[in-house]
Amino acid sequence: MNGYGGSILRVDLNSGTISRQPTPAALARDFVGGRGFGLYFLTREVPVHADPLGSENKLIISSGPLSGMLIPGGGKCDWTTKSPLTGGYADASMGGHFTAEMKYAGVDSIILEGISPKPVYLFIDDRKVELRDATSLWGKGAIDVEVSLKKQYGEEYQIAAIGPGGENQVLYACINHDYGRQAGRGGVGAVMGSKLLKAIVVHGTQSIPVADLDAYRQAGMALYKACKDSDGLKDWTRYGTTIVVSWCDEVGALPTRNFSAGSFEGGKTLYGPVMREQIVVTDKGCFGCPCPCGKYSRMKRYGTQVEGPEYETIGMLGSNLGISDIQDVAQANLLCDDLGIDSISTGGCIAWAIECYEKGLLSKTDVDGLDLRFGNAEAVFAAIKLIATRQGKLGVLLSEGVKRAAQKVGNGSEKFAIQIKGMEQSAYATHNATAMLVSYMTCDVGAHHNRAWAITYDLQVGRDRVAPDKVARVIWLQNFRPMFDVLGACRLQWVELGIDRDLYMPALEAITGIRRSWEDLEKVGERIWNLARLYWQREIEDFGRDWDLPAPRFYEDPPTTGVTAGQITRFEDVQRLLDMYYEQRGWDANGAPTAETLERLNLTVVPN
Ligand code: SF4
Repeated sequence: MNGYGGSILRVDLNSGTISRQPTPAALARDFVGGRGFGLYFLTREVPVHADPLGSENKLIISSGPLSGMLIPGGGKCDWTTKSPLTGGYADASMGGHFTAEMKYAGVDSIILEGISPKPVYLFIDDRKVELRDATSLWGKGAIDVEVSLKKQYGEEYQIAAIGPGGENQVLYACINHDYGRQAGRGGVGAVMGSKLLKAIVVHGTQSIPVADLDAYRQAGMALYKACKDSDGLKDWTRYGTTIVVSWCDEVGALPTRNFSAGSFEGGKTLYGPVMREQIVVTDKGCFGCPCPCGKYSRMKRYGTQVEGPEYETIGMLGSNLGISDIQDVAQANLLCDDLGIDSISTGGCIAWAIECYEKGLLSKTDVDGLDLRFGNAEAVFAAIKLIATRQGKLGVLLSEGVKRAAQKVGNGSEKFAIQIKGMEQSAYATHNATAMLVSYMTCDVGAHHNRAWAITYDLQVGRDRVAPDKVARVIWLQNFRPMFDVLGACRLQWVELGIDRDLYMPALEAITGIRRSWEDLEKVGERIWNLARLYWQREIEDFGRDWDLPAPRFYEDPPTTGVTAGQITRFEDVQRLLDMYYEQRGWDANGAPTAETLERLNLTVVPN
């Protein structure tokens, strides 16, 4: 099949059985690849109410038709599972070089099922696929594991590994690759850890069949040329995502001290140019990327180095914890990466704990004697280690995520647990930014930004407006942006360099031999969005409108400082926004897709 590796690799960790099946053409037609494939297998193969950390849950890694191809940023793969953090759908996109090797080994999806009786890692070298003993790797940091497996097999082998956070099933554990790229959100690393799978090693040498080689070459060149000619290339390559730290600070979107404000008085020392000057050593990109946003940094004070920090980490482990020294943020980033826990959720959990401690809701004993206050980097480092190892009262409490932690602590602490659907909100403060608020409320994995980065639209048309066009913008983005995760390509060339999205279509056609338009792909995106909603409904009995509500902080608790001081979105407007969203989606008043919508999209509630 043109543009695909050609097989689905199934690994049963219970029995050690490994099998391959051809990738069905109908699956490629209807779900394209990446997160489309992941959701398809999740909804059909994981039984209703399966324990996310039990044998029945599956972890599905999928590439797309643009993965591993010579188009800008064709280095993305998608990790899908039932989330142990939220109990609903989770997927996490990962860059680097893993997906290219996976495809060259002839694999479109790896489906991991069951639980191994002992620690193992999966070794894939073209047609050779084996489970190998990982006893000696268990307990090691994710970066250490990558270093040692690369040493053993060679640089051309790509590694994805969990750290102690995944082994200890911290509910927001991540998977690390390429020394600093992650499948970060929703606890995919905890699921891998629950299966006693420490790592995956992959290498391939096979060709990907292409429908029209000349057209592929031309379409790929046109995309690279557009990147090269972009006015944004220079600054994007120099600063990567840190380019937005100053912008967020200025517009009141930089999470500050547990999202109690959107501007940070110490923010300037976290800005991209400061970081570049103080700690960045060099740039690093994913497979085929002409505009590498990754930054290798050296923290002289600690004698360490890390890939990062990028914007989300600066927001969540920097300003949101009151930390203004970029070396401290980078060091916290390194700890999260090596220990294998998501830096966004980690920052959200620690910020909540600091606020609880300051308000007297957690005692000194509850925080294991730490001097837990905003701005204290040493206490943050200690808290990260406790979380990843699930040690101490604080580590155990926070390892379950902020929603469960707040339910345990009670006393009103739920109000400043900044999460939606059980996932800690990523690094955009949404005080009085109604489109971005809708984006977070309705995101299909929980409070994550990357489906619909709508905050620029808020600023463009009036941040406090509560109007149908805000919701329409979010829906369009939600149908369209995640299609990059379906195709297996990075969206940042389109977002940041302004590459015309239509340039991707000739490449897709030349590779697969099938002509598709963005309008056609947006319809696939809408089906996927609705299928994910059905999955939540299937798994969680009381799932509905209340699950879409934001943290009360955004409608009850206006910031007292910064450019958004005094600003919130009123609760009745939050509800109006949801009404508009449901109506435009074709969902009922409780947020369930109506029968007409399901019929229009040719979707049925998934049996299982
Ligand atoms: Fe990877 Fe960044 Fe390039 Fe995207 S822009 S492919 S995330 S290096």
